[in-house]
Amino acid sequence: MPEGNETHRWATLHASMFAGRRVHVDSPQGRFADAGLLDGRKLCGVVAVGKHLGYDFGIIEKQRRIVHVHMGLYGDFTEGSQPMPEPRGALRMRIWDRRQWLELRGPTDCSLWTDEDWQALLARLGPDPLNVPRKVPAKDRQAPAKLIERIGKRRTAIGLLLMDQSIVSGLGNILRAELLFRARVSPFRPGNEVPEQTLQAIWKDAVELMPPAMVDRRIVTTMPRDRPHRRGTALDEEAHYVYRRKGRPCFVCGTEIRTEVMGGRNLFWCPQCQAD
Ligand SMILES: [Zn+2]
Repeated sequence: MPEGNETHRWATLHASMFAGRRVHVDSPQGRFADAGLLDGRKLCGVVAVGKHLGYDFGIIEKQRRIVHVHMGLYGDFTEGSQPMPEPRGALRMRIWDRRQWLELRGPTDCSLWTDEDWQALLARLGPDPLNVPRKVPAKDRQAPAKLIERIGKRRTAIGLLLMDQSIVSGLGNILRAELLFRARVSPFRPGNEVPEQTLQAIWKDAVELMPPAMVDRRIVTTMPRDRPHRRGTALDEEAHYVYRRKGRPCFVCGTEIRTEVMGGRNLFWCPQCQAD
């Protein structure tokens, strides 16, 4: 499953390829029936929120129209320069112009939405750390009130709440585990027992950690001083504190990292550093 940073990477790439240009759109497989309505129109921009992508085609027949894409477990894009290959496999959507093309296969959803549909999605979703403007200085990056409020009302374990897209968008399983470790919070602590100051720290941490992962497709959460090899870039096995480190010694305290299924995904934590 793509994490949020992957979705944002696609949005940035596809906007750089096509935003502001007239494009062709089709659906060789036929399942995106509205493709014909978009063919020959200008793609205004591409936005991402959590695991959702929106291809904004501006006003068509008096309404703003946006292609909503949710990648699900199997969705994937391929991009390239012309000439475009012959259609192969279950090709849901293609977008192209004279220079470049993209192909979309296997998404959970690819359909034409109105602005109203898109706004309803935004209202449902929690804030996305990747949509915080980079120009805002780190110290001023307050967590959105919606996030603090939604967590503060819940007795559900914080480890589950961080995976809930209505609380925060696009964190994914790696960051859930790593953010909780870095804040030294037990994943089992109920949301309403996590101090606001800690939630603020977790939010700021997410805003810092996610953008670099958009570039190199890898999230490094360990600090150099905690790694067995303190110099140079992090080795793969030293990139995370707890994620996929079951039974290995914690880099900070030496206790064995534990794992358990929480919210349908494997959760990892250090029972010492993140005691209840
Ligand atoms: Zn530990």
